[in-house]
Amino acid sequence: MDCIFCKIIAGVIPSFKVYEDEDILAFLDIAPVNPGHTLVVPKKHYANLEEIPEGELAKLAAAIKKVGKAVKDGLGVEGYNVMENNDPVSGQIIPHLHFHIIPRKEGDGLKLWPQGKYGEGEAEEMAEKIKNKI
Ligand code: AMP
Ligand code: ZN
Repeated sequence: MDCIFCKIIAGVIPSFKVYEDEDILAFLDIAPVNPGHTLVVPKKHYANLEEIPEGELAKLAAAIKKVGKAVKDGLGVEGYNVMENNDPVSGQIIPHLHFHIIPRKEGDGLKLWPQGKYGEGEAEEMAEKIKNKI
């Protein structure tokens, strides 16, 4: 077992657990963006979003919703970001599917991504390329 999150799930590595059921574990991120930053993971090892079967993803989504509300209500924050990095190029460091729940407060200084503009015909081309693979 080489995966750090599988070790956390097995109890080999300690964590601050906030939610657990048969299929899912949620625990505090060791290096929080904001205090209370929580990770929600399936207990079965899937490298990323593409690998998890739809039925299990539905359970994971329900847990994300439950934990997100608990983060918001429990910490008294105004909102939260839900984020999932898919593959190393996106910033995924741990190849065990996990969703970040990041509590947000007005003025916390966290800036999300800069946004651009499409050139002539580019949006149509992008939409076509994606549509053709669904
Ligand atoms: P990602 O970049 O999406 O793969 O996120 C991996 C996250 O796992 C990072 O935010 C790390 O801080 C977090 N992390 C790494 N090791 C541990 C650990 N032992 N316990 C809790 N969180 C961890
Ligand atoms: Zn794993």
